Amino acid sequence: MSSIFTKIISREIPAHIEYEDENVIVIHDIAPQAKHHLLVIPKQEIESTQALLEGDMDILKPLFLAIQTVTRQLAIQDGYKLHINSGKAGGQEVMHLHIHILSDI
Ligand code: 5GP
Repeated sequence: MSSIFTKIISREIPAHIEYEDENVIVIHDIAPQAKHHLLVIPKQEIESTQALLEGDMDILKPLFLAIQTVTRQLAIQDGYKLHINSGKAGGQEVMHLHIHILSDI
């Protein structure tokens, strides 16, 4: 079953897209918990950090490059937090790996 993020990637559901390349999409969170709240999402659908296999580790590099790009784009590169929820008991609601960027700059 495809996640809501897969539907955003395929444009079935609209979102405010801050950045996109062949591997990653970065969107603004629909319910921001900070002045800037973005979600960095690999296009490859992996459920959580716990589901990452050794061969999937290559998807992490583009995520961190995208974090550098969007934080510069939004001029928040001097201060932000990264947050990952993993598993339902860890507060994960959307079962498609993503990194939250939160900044009040
Ligand atoms: P999680 O709890 O899984 O780590 O975070 C999921 C995040 O996705 C939440 O912060 C929630 O507000 C956000 N979210 C859920 N549905 C949508 C949506 O349709 N569009 C956007 N832009 N964000 C969403």
